[in-house]
Amino acid sequence: MSSIVLFGPPGAGKGTQAERITDTTGLPQISTGDMLRAAVKAGTETGKLAKSFMEAGQLVPDEVIIDLIKERITLPDAKDGVMFDGFPRTVPQAEALATITEVSHVIAIEVPDERIVERICGRYSCAACGSVYHDTFNPVPSEGCACGQWQEKRRADDNEATVTSRLQAYHEQTSPLAAWYRSRGIFHQIDGDREIDAITADILAALN
Ligand code: ADP
Ligand code: ADP
Repeated sequence: MSSIVLFGPPGAGKGTQAERITDTTGLPQISTGDMLRAAVKAGTETGKLAKSFMEAGQLVPDEVIIDLIKERITLPDAKDGVMFDGFPRTVPQAEALATITEVSHVIAIEVPDERIVERICGRYSCAACGSVYHDTFNPVPSEGCACGQWQEKRRADDNEATVTSRLQAYHEQTSPLAAWYRSRGIFHQIDGDREIDAITADILAALN
């Protein structure tokens, strides 16, 4: 089994691209952010622990994340590999992942910091199917989401106050991973400051 990592700052478009390439790759998307939000909503021990870090725009401790992934990867849909979205985010997480599954491609979606605020502050999604939209750049069609059960949802942490700390966490703790993966020859840089479809095409080319 061999897996893909979607890598990049918050708001780079990892979730948006995952939605578009999942049919082609056949790999299920595993988003640690989505898993943590589900845990917070369900009020589990993990959720209680993670909540304050997420609200402050800080990374949740590595042990919590690694335990979540170890459990998730045992489900049957993960047997042929998965597409990680927002994981790993620290070198210890990447080291743990290397003992769990082989990573064949790290797709780094690059977007300058000054674009991130507008992307995150305009983000919303469909609560029914998880599709990601944007107020200006990718609005939901006037007839609603293609899933037919359109229900708008916005994240509590998608505000200007947390963006600064989320970007700081990215630059200090996550971006060192680029060199870690580059040295392993599996790192693919994609310019994420373009039309969504052009980025999808480049990702699919990198995966081929
Ligand atoms: P991530 O999963 O990396 O945090 P998302 O996929 O949720 O990022 O995208 C963040 C926001 O930016 C969403 O509102 C999304 O609709 C929008 N977005 C994604 N890709 C692009 C793009 N290429 N150009 C403009 N906006 C984009
Ligand atoms: P974004 O891509 O917009 O940063 P995510 O949904 O990936 O948002 O993550 C939301 C929050 O969940 C992060 O700010 C962080 O607190 C926590 N989180 C998600 N994934 C990880 C991870 N791999 N390691 C540590 N914290 C994480």
